[in-house]
Amino acid sequence: MAASSGSSISIITINMTALHILKEKFGYSSFRLEQEAIINSVLQKKDTFALMPTGGGKSLCYQIPALIFDGLTVVISPLIALMKDQVDALRVNGIAAAFLNSTQSYQEQNEILKKVQAKELKLLYLAPESNFIKQLSSYNVSLIAIDEAHCISHWGHDFRPEYLNLAHLKKSLPDIPVIALTATADKLTRKDIVEKLELNNPSTFISSFNRGNIRYTVVPKRNSFDKILDFIEKRKDESGIIYCLSRASTERLAEDLKNEGFHALPYHAGLEKEIRAKHQELFLRDEVKIMVATIAFGMGIDKSNVRYVVHSDLPKNIESYYQETGRAGRDGLNSEALLLYSYADVMKMKRFVTVDGNTEQTEVFLKKLDQMAEYGNLPTCRRKFLLNYFDEATTNYCGNCDVCLTHIELTDGTQLAQKVLSAVSRLQERFGAGYVIDFLRGSNSAKIQEEHKQLKTFGIGADASKEEWNNIIRDLLTQEYLVKSEGMYPILQLTEKSTAVLKGLEKVMITKSKEITEVAEPEANYEQTLLQQLKDIRRKIANEENVPAYIVLSDATLLELATYLPHNKEEFLKISGFGQVKIEKYGKQFWDVVAAYCREHNLKSRINLKTPKRIRRERPERETDTKQKSFEFFKLGHSIAEIAERRNLSSSTIESHLAFYVQQGTLLLNEVIDASKISSIQQAIEKTEGNALAPVKELLGDSYSYGEIRMVMAHLEGVRSLQQQKIDIINS
Ligand SMILES: [Zn+2]
Repeated sequence: MAASSGSSISIITINMTALHILKEKFGYSSFRLEQEAIINSVLQKKDTFALMPTGGGKSLCYQIPALIFDGLTVVISPLIALMKDQVDALRVNGIAAAFLNSTQSYQEQNEILKKVQAKELKLLYLAPESNFIKQLSSYNVSLIAIDEAHCISHWGHDFRPEYLNLAHLKKSLPDIPVIALTATADKLTRKDIVEKLELNNPSTFISSFNRGNIRYTVVPKRNSFDKILDFIEKRKDESGIIYCLSRASTERLAEDLKNEGFHALPYHAGLEKEIRAKHQELFLRDEVKIMVATIAFGMGIDKSNVRYVVHSDLPKNIESYYQETGRAGRDGLNSEALLLYSYADVMKMKRFVTVDGNTEQTEVFLKKLDQMAEYGNLPTCRRKFLLNYFDEATTNYCGNCDVCLTHIELTDGTQLAQKVLSAVSRLQERFGAGYVIDFLRGSNSAKIQEEHKQLKTFGIGADASKEEWNNIIRDLLTQEYLVKSEGMYPILQLTEKSTAVLKGLEKVMITKSKEITEVAEPEANYEQTLLQQLKDIRRKIANEENVPAYIVLSDATLLELATYLPHNKEEFLKISGFGQVKIEKYGKQFWDVVAAYCREHNLKSRINLKTPKRIRRERPERETDTKQKSFEFFKLGHSIAEIAERRNLSSSTIESHLAFYVQQGTLLLNEVIDASKISSIQQAIEKTEGNALAPVKELLGDSYSYGEIRMVMAHLEGVRSLQQQKIDIINS
C-alpha cells in the first residue's frame, strides 16, 4: 500500500505531525533553516532538491517524512561510516532503521531483508551500488532520499560513477517522490543533478552557506607549535581537529602535544586500518579530544561537538578549507576555525599543486591556491570573502571573524612607502620582497649584488626591522601601490598608483597597530564540574551502547543541563535535545547526576548561578628550541656570522639551523644565498651524486662556501620530501 495521498492530510496537520515528531523523537522544539518547507514539499510527494550547508540538519528532511509515511524510506548514501552513524543515532531515538552494505555478512543482510519484507523498518540505508535498488519496485517504498547527490555530477568535485546507477530510478518508480540532498554544489552541478536523476519539476531549496557560529581567524605561522598550544590550552575540555599536510607531521605534532599533556592522536591513510578505526572511535566517543590528521580524516564523520578546526598548514583551495572548517560546530554552538598562514606555505604549496605535464590543470590549481593566499592576507571580512566565493551575497561586516573584530589604527606612512617604492624602482622591479627588504636595510649579506650596494637607496631603511618592512609592503600590496608577479618566485613591481606617491602627490596610510577586540563571550552561566560529570556519564552510556558520545546527547544539551539544572521530568522536557524517548532511556541517569550536584551545592532549579572564574594554568616553559632562535635572529636581519657571535656558536651550527628551515620550506633558498649561485651548486650536487659536501666544494672552488652548498642540499631534500608528501596525499 502506498502512503495516503496528499489530499487526505491538510498541510496544517502535516505541520503539527512533523513538529510533534521533531519534539518527541529528536528533542527539538523548532525547525532550522528551510527544514520545514522541505519536509512539507516531501510530504506532498513532490520531487525535491535541497542544498543545505553541512550541519544544517539535512537528514531530518527525510527522516521526519519517513516516520509520517506508512511505507519504507530508502536513503542512498555513499559513505558507509556515515550510514552506520546515522542508523545508530536513529535507533537511539527509538526509530526502526537499518543499513545494507558490503561490510555485512550474507546472514546479516538476509535478516535485514526479512525485516523489510515484514514491514518492520521505517528507514533503510543503501550504498548507490547496491543491487537491492533494482528490486525496490516490489516493496512498499514511500520515499527515496539521495544524499550527497552531487556525486552524480561530473561537474561536482566528488563524482562517483556508481551514482549513475540512480539515473533511471524515476523511470522504474515514477510515483515515488525523490529528495536529492547535498551540501556542496555550484549552479552547474545543481542543474546536472536534477537532469541526471530525472526529477519531475522538483521544488528547489537553497539554504545559506553561512556558518554563523564559526569564528574565522588567521594568524601568522610563526612559532606555530606555541600558537597551537596557546589555542588548545584555552579549550582543554573541547574536541578539535588539527589538520596537517603530511602524514609525518601529524604523527610528530600528536606526539609533541601528548608530551605537553594533551589527549591527541594522529590519523592518516598510511596508518593500519585497525589503528585508524580505533583512533576515530576514541575521538567520536570523546575519549580523545584532539585528532591530528591529514585531509584523509573527516569524510563521513558526523561528530556534532567538534569545537575547533585548526589548519597548521595551508589548504590547497577554498573548497577544502570551507569543508574542513565546516566540521566544527555542527551542533550550532560557538566554534573556531584557526588558520596558521605563511607566505612560505604558499610557496611550498605552489610546488605541491603543480601537475607535471598538465599546464591547464596546473593553472586551475595555482589560481585556486592564489585565492587561498588572498584569504590568508585579507584586509576585509573573511566570512564575506568565503560566501562570495560560493556565489552568496552578504554584508561587509560579520562581527565574527578576526578582521571584523580587529581594530586597526592607521598612520601616515608616506615616507616609508616612498622608500619602498623607490627601492623597487632602483632595483628595476626585478626582485622579491625579501631582497628589497635586505636592500632597504643595507644588509651586508653576500646575496646582495655589489652594484646594488652602490645605489643611493641602499640602506635607507636600516632603522626598521624586517618584520616592519614586511608589514608595510603588505599594506602597499593591499592598497595596490605595489603588485606581486605570479609564479614561483614573485617579484615586486610598481603600479600606476606608485608614481603619485614617489612624486609626493599622494599620501599613503598604513597600519600602525592592530588590536583584537576582545568580544565579550556570552558569560557561560553553567556549572563546570557538573558539565564534566554529565560528560562522564554520557561517555559511560556511549560505551555501553557502543555509539559515539554525541549520539547519546549533544554538547548543547549537556550545556543546557548544566546551566538550567532541571529538577523534574517537566523541566527535563524543556531542555533541547531531550525528547520523550531519550527522557525514558537516559533521563534518570542524567537526573541523578544533576540532582546530586544540586543537593551537594544547595542549588535550586534554573536560577542564575555565578560562573566560577576559569583559571588558566601556566604552561611551564618549554625547552628553548635552538634552531628557532637562530631562525628568528636571521629573520630580524642578522647575518649568519652575527648570529654565531651573538649566540656563541659556530657559523656552521647556525648554517645547519637555517638549513633546517630551508628544507621545511619556511626559508626560501634565495633568502639565504645569492640566487645567481643556485643553479651551479645544484648542478655540482647532481654531478657528484652524493650527499657529501666536500666533493661538491671541490668541484665549485673558492667562490662557493660550504654553507651555500649545504643550503642548496637542504632545499633539494625538502623538494624530495615534498614529492613524497604529494604521493602520500594522493594515496590518502
Ligand atoms: Zn567578518
